[in-house]
Amino acid sequence: MFKGINAIEFNKRFSSNEACYQYLIEIKWGKGFMCSRCGCSPSYKGKTYYYRRCVQCHYNESVTSNTIFHGIKMPILKAFHMVFRLTAKKKGMSTMELGSEVGVQQKTAWLFKRKVQVAMKQDHTDKLKGNVDVDETLMGHHTDRKTGGRSLEKREAIMLGVEILTDGRTGNIRMEHLEKFEELTMRFSMRNMVNSSASIRTDNYVCYRKMKEAIPNIETIESKNGVGFEELHRQIMQFKNWLVGIHHRWSKTHLFAYLDEYVFRFNRRNNRNLIFGQLINRMMIQIPHPYPILKGLCAYST
Ligand SMILES: [Zn+2]
Repeated sequence: MFKGINAIEFNKRFSSNEACYQYLIEIKWGKGFMCSRCGCSPSYKGKTYYYRRCVQCHYNESVTSNTIFHGIKMPILKAFHMVFRLTAKKKGMSTMELGSEVGVQQKTAWLFKRKVQVAMKQDHTDKLKGNVDVDETLMGHHTDRKTGGRSLEKREAIMLGVEILTDGRTGNIRMEHLEKFEELTMRFSMRNMVNSSASIRTDNYVCYRKMKEAIPNIETIESKNGVGFEELHRQIMQFKNWLVGIHHRWSKTHLFAYLDEYVFRFNRRNNRNLIFGQLINRMMIQIPHPYPILKGLCAYST
């Protein structure tokens, strides 16, 4: 398994469908075959070089069966190119741009990108630790200030947690979509994002004050229009710029996927050349997400 990859190495290494399939074969069966139907190990040649046939049940298994690559409607080489392009650029790219670079329709690029986002899902076992600042923010197409307060009409709420390292720099971040501003919902998200041993700082919002009973290591302080939480608010601005800049018309239905993508990229910002390998690995161990399910969710977004 390679450590990291740049564009020249990528093009050299993955110059044909066969090279991509060989790479997947190494990930899936490098340590030996195991039939996904009956669990049996002995196998013989399948119908093509990227298939194996089980000796016991005769199931002819493709290397992409039971992975996110299952059923993709384009050559595997194009799929690899898309994953690489999505990971090589610091901010990712819109599916319009992605489609034209790889030579597929925007709709195809959108559907495949949703599959990649599934593999970028935030890992709930990897929570924020140490000193963590938490706040929530509103995102909306209509930023009518008159609605005021924390009204969720036409807007979406996001909770953001940021690790503040001892030298003041930012560590990892986590983000969650909040269905409503209510203590129980917010506490659930807080527990999902932040380790129970962390020292948490929030503003004085009533939900955080209530939360202190269940999560005693929360310190609520006066926000003073964000002065007390500069790094946190910088991160919120960066996320909003990214979402609008890259994805233009985002929808509520897919907001969670954009949050996952942003967090995945941000937390690997210092090891960007490793992301490609990590994502392909994750795509090989995820259950497939059939296109009809992804399609059914809503109209295509960029
Ligand atoms: Zn079998």
